[in-house]
Amino acid sequence: MVMNPNGRSPSHLSNLEKARRKLRYYRQQALQPIRWLAYTTGQTRFVPPPDRMYIESTNICNLNCIMCPTGLKLIKRPQGFMDFEVFKQIVDEMAPWVRATTLHIWGEPLLHPRIFDMVEYCTRKGLRTEISTNATLLTEERAKRLLEAGLSAIYLSIDGLRPETYENIRVRADYERTNANIRRFIELKVEGGYQTYVNIQIIKMKQTLDEIQEFVRVWSLPGVDRINVKPFDSWADQVDQISELRPNEVKLPEKRWACPNLWYHVHIYWDGSIAMCDRDFNLNFPLGNVVDPDGKVRVMKNWNGPQMQELRRRHLENDLDDVSPCNKCTEWAWWKPSPFFAQGNRPADEGSKMVRLHEDGPIIIGLDDVET
Ligand code: SF4
Repeated sequence: MVMNPNGRSPSHLSNLEKARRKLRYYRQQALQPIRWLAYTTGQTRFVPPPDRMYIESTNICNLNCIMCPTGLKLIKRPQGFMDFEVFKQIVDEMAPWVRATTLHIWGEPLLHPRIFDMVEYCTRKGLRTEISTNATLLTEERAKRLLEAGLSAIYLSIDGLRPETYENIRVRADYERTNANIRRFIELKVEGGYQTYVNIQIIKMKQTLDEIQEFVRVWSLPGVDRINVKPFDSWADQVDQISELRPNEVKLPEKRWACPNLWYHVHIYWDGSIAMCDRDFNLNFPLGNVVDPDGKVRVMKNWNGPQMQELRRRHLENDLDDVSPCNKCTEWAWWKPSPFFAQGNRPADEGSKMVRLHEDGPIIIGLDDVET
């Protein structure tokens, strides 16, 4: 039985385990100002371990969504699943340092045959896990296994309130089935008293804008912790077909700053390749592979390896004309770290677009630019 920090009986953790987790917490807190110092002083070589890890369990997906390079078959990298032994080594090395890991980048994580083992392994190591899923494969059995494995947070994507909106965006998905899967997941969470943080997610795009307000009302259910109105990500404006779905103009700051991703987030694809961020979905700028020729995994060696140093330097000098996809990207402006706070991959001023639920109903803030 896994000691489950998110399951029904966190009080069952041993004192030793509690002490270990407290130590991890303080270590991670102490790292925040050090990491910020490295970022703000332009350190390229001796950068502390990242704050968050993004692991691509697979880059295979069962849908053909219109805003997604995977769904549009634009990803030229080979398809596959992360090897479980490689995964374990990554977690072993990084769990003491990073605050959380996602188990998805490109692809549907529930397709990975060992996704439950992955969550459970992280839980065992005291590492928070998150998955974002299209929920089409989230059967009752899979839902129970995720909850039991100790999943910390789940993003359940259902773009649209009307079936036709949803099915035109999430091509090959069935609205009724996804809806039922999500509702059952929420029920199971509530019935079992699990603490998995449930985010219901809708992407803010032309097609969904006029449904968002109502979407928030309908999905404000017991057991839902947050409704995530996800800002539109153009994936570095590499694909016109995707950029055209953008709901509003992007206003960039006058002066470009070095992208915080390169100091704060490590992205590891299913085959061990390191990417600057998920927007480099075809690895235009490779940053090494965590699996060394001797078969051993070394994340930190690559995190501060020569290619990463070079990319950081190019960012600091704003010498990005031939660095794809950073040269066309607008998402670098989403956030800037502060000494004691770093955030995940979402715009700083979009924080208020998350609708946090409250026992008296949803607290809706910052939705004023949503057309209703
Ligand atoms: S500039 Fe854009 S593409 Fe480059 S690392 Fe930052 S977010 Fe990713």
